[in-house]
Amino acid sequence: MQIEMPGSGRRIRPGKLICVGRNYAAHAAEMKSEIPKQPLLFLKPSTSLVGDGGSVVIPPMSSDVHHELELVLVIGQEARGVAEQDAMLYVEGYALGLDMTARDLQAEAKKGGKPWSVAKGFDTFAPIGRFVASAVIEDVGNITMQLQRNAAVVQSCTTRDMIFSPAHLVHYVSHIFTLEPGDLIFTGTPEGVGPVLPGDKLVATGDGLPTLNVEVVAAQT
Ligand code: MG
Repeated sequence: MQIEMPGSGRRIRPGKLICVGRNYAAHAAEMKSEIPKQPLLFLKPSTSLVGDGGSVVIPPMSSDVHHELELVLVIGQEARGVAEQDAMLYVEGYALGLDMTARDLQAEAKKGGKPWSVAKGFDTFAPIGRFVASAVIEDVGNITMQLQRNAAVVQSCTTRDMIFSPAHLVHYVSHIFTLEPGDLIFTGTPEGVGPVLPGDKLVATGDGLPTLNVEVVAAQT
């Protein structure tokens, strides 16, 4: 898929998807994980993206796929080694996203000290809504977000509770990976993650952010 950049309106092919693990203390606690001293990063392939109105496909390899509601940043210009106070100048917009996770495969990977790429990277495992220009959002550090599963609220949070702020994340990531226009940063999920099943309707909402709707479906066999 292509993403429509919220500042310029240009449509571009998304670049890399950089995801942050355990960026809310209450989620780290529910996973019985320690709070990281620095951002915990992993990558998803761009082929895991699916847009608003799309479907999340449950892969046959997993029987425990979870939703993770996240604020997503889109990078607007190349950023390498940027200072934290300048970091948000490189962010062109924000969207709601879901970091879908095959929790059973992730648990196996954790046990074996293996990477999370498979548990996190299936096709359709990164739904994202439309982006809104960063200038429109008054304070990215004070956004209330919510995820409903079949009209019941399952996740609800404020971005105030992030351990590492969006500015810190862009700064930190830019010292490891050169950020390019169209790269996305998934900023971590709050508590309340849980399983999804075929037929589920997921609706993510957030202050000033376009609503994200996706449906969960079984894989075609
Ligand atoms: Mg996540």
